[in-house]
Amino acid sequence: MASNQPHFVFMPFMAQGHLIPLMDIAKLFAEHNALVTIIATPSSLVRSGPTINLAIESGLPIHILQVRFPSTEAGLPEGCESADTIHSPILLKNFYTAVAMMQQPVEKLFAELKPPPNCIIYDRNFTWIVDIASKFQIPRISFDGKNCFTLLCSHALNISKVHENVSETEPFVVPGLPDRIEFTKGQLPSNFNPGNSSTMNEVVQKILAAEGGGYGVLLNTFEELEAEYVKTYRKVQDRKIWCVGPASLCNKENSDKAKRGNKSSIDENQCLEWLDSQAPNSVIYACFGSLNKLTAPQLIELGSALEATNRPFIWVLRGADGKDEMEKWFLEDGFEERTRGRGLLIRGWAPQVLILSHPAVGGFLTHCGWNSTLEGICAGLPMITWPLFSEQFFNEKLVVQVLKIGVGVGAKAAGLQFWDEGDSELLMKREDIKKAVDMVMDEGEEGQERRKKSRQLADMAKKALERGGSSYLNISLLIEDIKQQATSNLITA
Ligand code: UDP
Repeated sequence: MASNQPHFVFMPFMAQGHLIPLMDIAKLFAEHNALVTIIATPSSLVRSGPTINLAIESGLPIHILQVRFPSTEAGLPEGCESADTIHSPILLKNFYTAVAMMQQPVEKLFAELKPPPNCIIYDRNFTWIVDIASKFQIPRISFDGKNCFTLLCSHALNISKVHENVSETEPFVVPGLPDRIEFTKGQLPSNFNPGNSSTMNEVVQKILAAEGGGYGVLLNTFEELEAEYVKTYRKVQDRKIWCVGPASLCNKENSDKAKRGNKSSIDENQCLEWLDSQAPNSVIYACFGSLNKLTAPQLIELGSALEATNRPFIWVLRGADGKDEMEKWFLEDGFEERTRGRGLLIRGWAPQVLILSHPAVGGFLTHCGWNSTLEGICAGLPMITWPLFSEQFFNEKLVVQVLKIGVGVGAKAAGLQFWDEGDSELLMKREDIKKAVDMVMDEGEEGQERRKKSRQLADMAKKALERGGSSYLNISLLIEDIKQQATSNLITA
């Protein structure tokens, strides 16, 4: 190891939408010749270990340390070690108890780390990193899996509180944004709707309190994508902001893309062969991230919409898939038979980035999780947007209204699709889903314009991470910054 090689410790959180991008960012830092240590739980390493191992085999300076996730001690069922395995809102509290219990073993690891780290890049859910950073005098940078558009909207709402004086369904304008952006209260994340989820609200408060005093925040976005929002957000913040994405672009080979995030439920070659047999830009890829638990009636509406489009599709199934009602619909009611050859069903984990980057894919039906959205942008794809919960309605606005590369299915409010309960009032109808898909896949002038814009953004995304690009430079500057601070010891942890 070169003596001037700064040492970064990465601490990714146990949720796919947090784990995957931070693992990718760790690789990007190692590619910039920083020494990287990743501290992760065994289940995170089962999922993301294979891609990290490929990076290590290729010679990148990455080390892995394991820390146990104490699920049973915290009252969680055995094996419940990541957000997607929490099946009831009641268990959220236990999950965060287990997260708190990780502090001591992680502190022990820090005491033994050689060479001593120069910087900790941690998921903001690990609020106790503040104590560790302070004890060992290491600068800390939090990782926030959102974009500047979302962060600026949240900031504007926190300051103005406009959402507090309206009903659930009454649209209001978010003040102080570069564009005129409207939401209803029902579309906002739960921390803006107190009473919806008290555990998460407590967590969010703790996270916000812990963010003061850190050295800055790392974001998986790129400056050119949302330049006005990055600029305005920087103005209202007193912390440093580094846009270092899109992280997924560090996966250049098919082997990296196929192994990313989890073991795929479909054979990589089978998936590619199926895609190879389809015409360019013809396939709709429908996937709703790692957490959704769409109900059987909702899955049936969605499947019926895909069938009615008469287009080829890949549908990644989660939620009620496997329940008797769904099996009956797939088999006895004939959905599988009717769509055979035209529809590819993936039950479980899809190699999403591999699929999105195939030229046969022509549109992405997405829940607007930020990682998925950014991966769609990197693939140059127009999107059909169907936000479900969390900050997904913010991402939808960015895609549809600011970037103009998507069409919404018309989702009205954030719901309980996170849990098994569903919400019949929020059921999206097949006609509305089909209409949005048809608009995005349409070859007319409007559709072509959307496709052209999507491709331009994909080019910009690639350039951002190439040598000399904005994210490339931001990573270099941050590493240089930490190197200098380490020598002059100027940063307070
Ligand atoms: N993902 C995947 N295959 C799946 C489901 C999800 O590769 O079957 C990946 C996806 O590429 C993204 C992440 O998991 O990187 C999901 O993060 P996102 O922010 O989109 O949504 P969340 O799962 O947090 O709702």
